Amino acid sequence: QAKLKGRNQYVFFESLQETNKSTNIKLEYDFEHAIKNQEFIGRYQPLIGFDSDEVEGAEVLVRWQHPKLGLLQPDTFIPILEKSGQIVQLDLYMLKLAISNLNLWTDWLPDKFKLNVNVSTAGFASKEFITYLQEQHLKSAEITSRLCVEITEESLILNVDAVKKHLEILKSLNILVALDDFGTGYSSLSYLHQFSLDYLKIDKSFVDDLNEVNNKVLILDAVVNLAKALKIKTTAEGIETVEQYQKLKEIGCDVGQGYHISKPLLDTDFKCFIFHRGNPRKIA
Ligand code: C2E
Ligand code: MG
Ligand code: MG
Ligand code: MG
Repeated sequence: QAKLKGRNQYVFFESLQETNKSTNIKLEYDFEHAIKNQEFIGRYQPLIGFDSDEVEGAEVLVRWQHPKLGLLQPDTFIPILEKSGQIVQLDLYMLKLAISNLNLWTDWLPDKFKLNVNVSTAGFASKEFITYLQEQHLKSAEITSRLCVEITEESLILNVDAVKKHLEILKSLNILVALDDFGTGYSSLSYLHQFSLDYLKIDKSFVDDLNEVNNKVLILDAVVNLAKALKIKTTAEGIETVEQYQKLKEIGCDVGQGYHISKPLLDTDFKCFIFHRGNPRKIA
């Protein structure tokens, strides 16, 4: 009986893998057309300053409106595009989308508003990405100064010299840089001072069940203070409750992001969020 069940499970597992495999091939194959067809769209998740209690920015998060498979979340296609190398093209596409929205939204965005764009390791190391930013800076330095590029710890440690060069270029262009998912990757605090970073985005796993008993408050406190000493601001990701919000504010985090503040929004809803929330309004 057990043996039979085991075998069935194995067969099931194998067919599931087959399905995944064919979906992967299909997604890679669909990519070029999807770019041309503008199937990639952005959702915008607000970033709130803990002190100001104002919308200080938003993060652009990609979705794939696939004609047959429906709305795809990044976790289902980003790893595939990273493997195929097509992620570089997507990063550039999303950067262009971000800049075009900054142009469209310029009349009603709050003064110090920044738009955060995610970039993969390959994308950040690529010449296209940096060159595009340099060109855009020449067109409008005001618009590009509203950008914050989110890179990962992996980006920092692979190809250190190229990355340092690109970080310096961004600094000269007045474009901010955030280190995303801090604490999940290589987590070596010792390399932080080597790079010019503006924000550390503390990963959601440190914000989840935040309490004194499991020492997470202690860890967060240490990270926030280390960042402060290095003149780097901190953003807490994945804030889902008012308790987490209050605790992070107490700890001295600079910026908050999460479902408690807002889910990632359609551009039209994002505009409503900015207007209706008003700046400033207290989140209790
Ligand atoms: P990320 O950059 O760390 O983005 C934060 C993720 O956490 C987003 O997932 C967001 O929807 C989710 N999130 C925010 N607040 C909460 C919360 O309170 N609770 C929970 N459970 N989740 C929350 P999403 O949109 O699925 O994106 C996943 C990852 O995909 C991103 O993680 C980022 O690494 C990557 N990604 C998204 N857009 C792009 C892009 O344009 N280019 C690249 N290269 N990667 C992207
Ligand atoms: Mg991010
Ligand atoms: Mg993140
Ligand atoms: Mg993440």
